[in-house]
Amino acid sequence: MMPPVHGQHIKGIGALMGKNILIIGAGVAGLSAGCYGQMNGFSTKVLEMHDQPGGMCTAWTRGHYTLDGCIHWLVGTKPGTKMNRIWGDLGALQDCQVAQHEIFRQIVVGDRVLNVYTDPDALEEEMLEKSDGDEDIIREFTDAIRGFIGFEPPLDTRKISIIEYIRMLPYLPKLMRYQKVTIGEFTERFTDPFLKKAFRMIFPLSSSPLFIAVLTLALMSDGDAGCPTGGSLAFAKRIERRYLELGGQVSYRSKVVKILIEGGRATGVLLDDGSEVHADHIVSACDGHHTLFDLIGEEHLDQHAVRPYQVLETFKPIVYVSMGVDRDMTGEPPITTVVLDQPIEIAGEKQDCIGWAVHSYDPSRAPPGKCTITSMIETDYGFWRDAHSDRSRYECEKRKVRDILTEHLETRYPGIGSQIEVVDVATPLTWERYTGVWQGAYEGWMPSTEARRMTIPRTLEKVENFSICGQWVEPGGGVPPSAISGRNAIRDICRREKVRFHGQAR
Ligand SMILES: Cc1cc2nc3c(=O)[nH]c(=O)nc-3n(C[C@H](O)[C@H](O)[C@H](O)COP(=O)(O)OP(=O)(O)OC[C@H]3O[C@@H](n4cnc5c(N)ncnc54)[C@H](O)[C@@H]3O)c2cc1C
Repeated sequence: MMPPVHGQHIKGIGALMGKNILIIGAGVAGLSAGCYGQMNGFSTKVLEMHDQPGGMCTAWTRGHYTLDGCIHWLVGTKPGTKMNRIWGDLGALQDCQVAQHEIFRQIVVGDRVLNVYTDPDALEEEMLEKSDGDEDIIREFTDAIRGFIGFEPPLDTRKISIIEYIRMLPYLPKLMRYQKVTIGEFTERFTDPFLKKAFRMIFPLSSSPLFIAVLTLALMSDGDAGCPTGGSLAFAKRIERRYLELGGQVSYRSKVVKILIEGGRATGVLLDDGSEVHADHIVSACDGHHTLFDLIGEEHLDQHAVRPYQVLETFKPIVYVSMGVDRDMTGEPPITTVVLDQPIEIAGEKQDCIGWAVHSYDPSRAPPGKCTITSMIETDYGFWRDAHSDRSRYECEKRKVRDILTEHLETRYPGIGSQIEVVDVATPLTWERYTGVWQGAYEGWMPSTEARRMTIPRTLEKVENFSICGQWVEPGGGVPPSAISGRNAIRDICRREKVRFHGQAR
């Protein structure tokens, strides 16, 4: 690894153009910014506090198992789409298989099951068969999915090109319609009690526009939202490899503690070892709250930048339980959600459902005949922060979560309790410690109607030569928006520098 450059400018191939860019964070956004920076002739350097790339796009090993902490599905897996071309630019899917699921999620309510097929015809048949009435609303939903097959959202909703507008025209009426109604409001239209309960679990984001659910299922049905095998860390490492091949530099264990600002311009950063690194442009691809309130400082902020942090809702943090089991679970749906008859208390909060993912489709995660299972349980950040002040209580609370989940899985897969070989429980504090993510909000802002209406600033009014990319400027977060955002940060710098932007995806 390159050591941090002490108190001097970064040098490299892009110095040809005489301009360099310093990027904070080697998550997907930071690595993407790095790759596009290099592709566009800049000399770039990524500073990362951890000892490996990926940020929240990560995995870790326990015994023979690889426990994956991120990608459940990935937009851009269909060759030829705009997002796929970005993954091509970044080398992210090179030499990797992509699993396409027939069933996206299985939802269990009492003794009834709804299979959420990725094929809208199969989904329609399933919903009609499992419901009493509601035919119109079922058909409206599945027609909406069919209607968005082939739709590609613009790469930057703030700067839509004329070509993108023209391509969007046929979709506009539907787009406006399903942007207006939320998932929660649409769910209320079902009269069949089973379907009403099950539908709200397809995408449990009730304040988000229905469009998000419809588009995701349309992308899945079109093969454009599959799951790359090999997992999330391997995915991030492929982007890191591409970045290094392009001549980029990464410095790990390099924590930025301050962005240096002189005369209203960002000039460099201060690292926690006391050294300074200077550059012409600074791009922060780390946590948004940390960037503004710790690294920049309130005196340089404007009201537009601060506003999202005052009014928007973040993703609720999660306890993330991962297990390696000596059990062949081939054929199990990739995700199962069980709606509970009686809510159960987990980490001080009532839960009315439990869900888990089974990764038997990816042989890289477990030895043959074995499997990994993960479960995301929404939780209260304050509960874990308080528990963490007493190490033994914290460990005890983690064990309790593990036991509740094991007991629950046992009712579904008898005997599984004795087949569990490894267990790992990550809390919001775990995510915060490893990635610095604010209060464990693992995908940043909820993609609520309010968040989607607000334009979250990517630059600051009082600080030149500085920009922010990543999930904190793209409501809804996720790996693809983070990668797009890194690309857009470089495209904006190219505009400021009056040079043509290069990249396959337009
Ligand atoms: C359990 C889980 C499941 C998920 N599932 C999916 C999914 O199925 N599909 C999907 O698309 N997305 C999913 N996501 C979300 C996705 O992982 C994130 O939205 C995305 O990875 C965010 O990327 P980023 O680059 O913006 O930020 P991050 O990944 O947070 O990267 C920021 C980087 O900055 C570094 N950093 C922070 N502070 C500093 C500092 N001061 N100095 C130097 N470095 C610093 C961090 O260490 C980190 O590496 C999931 C996330 C989690 C946790």
